[in-house]
Amino acid sequence: MKKGILIIGAGGVSSVAVHKCAISINIFEKITLASRTIKKCQDIKKTIFDKYQVDINIEQIDANDINQLVVLINKINPKVVLNLALPYQDLDIMDACIKCKVDYIDTANYEHPNEAKFEYKLQWDRHEQFKNNSIQALLGSGFDPGVTGVFCAYAKKHYFDEIHYIDILDCNAGDHGYAFATNFNPEINLREVSANGRYWQEGKWITTKPLEIKIKWDYPEIGVKDSYLLYHEELESLSKNIKGVKRIRFFMTFSQSYITHMNCLQNIGMLGINKINHKGIDIIPIEFLSTLLPNPSSLASKTKGKTNIGCVIEGIKNGIKKKIYIYNVCNHEECFKEVGSQAISYTTGVPAFIGAKLVYQDIWNKKGVYNIEQFDPDVFMEELNIQGLPWKIKVLD
Ligand code: NDP
Repeated sequence: MKKGILIIGAGGVSSVAVHKCAISINIFEKITLASRTIKKCQDIKKTIFDKYQVDINIEQIDANDINQLVVLINKINPKVVLNLALPYQDLDIMDACIKCKVDYIDTANYEHPNEAKFEYKLQWDRHEQFKNNSIQALLGSGFDPGVTGVFCAYAKKHYFDEIHYIDILDCNAGDHGYAFATNFNPEINLREVSANGRYWQEGKWITTKPLEIKIKWDYPEIGVKDSYLLYHEELESLSKNIKGVKRIRFFMTFSQSYITHMNCLQNIGMLGINKINHKGIDIIPIEFLSTLLPNPSSLASKTKGKTNIGCVIEGIKNGIKKKIYIYNVCNHEECFKEVGSQAISYTTGVPAFIGAKLVYQDIWNKKGVYNIEQFDPDVFMEELNIQGLPWKIKVLD
C-alpha cells in the first residue's frame, strides 16, 4: 500500500515544507527527502531530528533522470510526491508519477532550461494521462502561484457573482543587508524579473518592456512602495479559470538598488542563458552569477522586516460593484525563529505543505491535472490561519 510523502529538492522552500510535514508526521506517516546534493538532505534531516525527534529518510537523486525517479518512487512507494526542486524538473517528475501512479504537487510551472519562457501547456497536456491513471496533479501550491489563486477562488465563492479585475500585489520589504541578493533561487528569480512584462486584458495578452509599468501601492503594515508589473505564471491559469475576468495583472516591489544591479548585470551579459566559452571552459553566465550570489537560505538569519502578498479583486455582487483586498503579512524574523528560514521560503513552503496535506488526506481529490484555484478554497484558507500564514480581508471603496 502507498504510504508517506516523497519531497524532491532540499533548498530553502523544501526545508520549510519538511519542518511542517515533520510536525504533522501523524498525517504523513513517513517522510523521504531526496535531492541532488545529499549533504543538504543530511543537514535538514539532522535539524528535524534535533527539533522534533522525527527521523526522515533521505536519498540522492538526479531529478532530470526519469529512470532514477521511477526507481526511487517505486522503492519508496509514497502516496504523494511534492516537487520542490526547480521548474526544469517538473515534466520528468510528472512523467515518473504517471509511470508509478502517484499524486504530484509543485509550486512553479515548467520552464525550459535553454529558453526564458514558462508556461503551463506541457503540464496541462498531461491531464488525460493523470486522469486515466486515477491520479491527480496539483499545480502551483506555493504563495504566488498558490495562495493568490486560493484567494481568488475564495473571493469568487463568497464575495462576488462576477469577478472583473484582479491585481496581485507582492511586496517583500525585508532587508538582508546585502547591496544585491535574490530571496529565492537566483536563476529563476532573475529570469522572471528581467523578462518582458505581460498582463491579460479583454481576452488578449498585452506585452510591456521589463519593469515598464510602475504603480505605488500602500501595503498594510509596510507602507507605500513602488510596484512593477511583471508577467507571473498564475496569470495564465487564473485568466482561464476565473470565468469572466476582464483584466488580471501582477505587481512586485523592488528597491532601486535591486533594479540598478539587475540592469547592470543584464547590460554586461551576466543574465545570459546560453553557453559561452571562458578560457576553454563552457559556462552559462546566469549559472555562474548564481554561484557568486549569496545562497537565499543564508539570508534567513540576517533578514528583517515583512512581506505582504495579496489580491485586489473587483466585481459585482447582487448587482452592486464591489472591491476587496485579501492579503497575508509575514515577518522574516518570526519565520526564522520558527523554522530557521526567511519569509519567502516560508510563504512558499507552508502552502506546499498544506497542498500536500489536503491531497494526502484525499480532501482535495480530482483525477487529472489542476491548478490550485480549481479546488474548493475554504479548507485551504482555514489551514493558512492555522499553519502560520493568517490572512485579512478589507473592503475597499
Ligand atoms: P533552491 O535553489 O533553494 O532549491 C532547489 C533544490 O532543488 C536544491 O536542493 C537543488 O539541489 C534541487 N535540485 C535542483 N536540480 C535538481 C535535480 N536535477 N535533481 C534533484 N534535485 C535538484 O530553490 P528554492 O527552494 O528557493 O525554490 C524551490 C522551488 O520553489 C522552485 O521551483 C521555485 O521556483 C519555487 N518557488 C515558488 C514560489 C511560489 O510562491 N510559488 C516562490 C519561491 C520559489 P542542489 O542542492 O544540488 O542545488
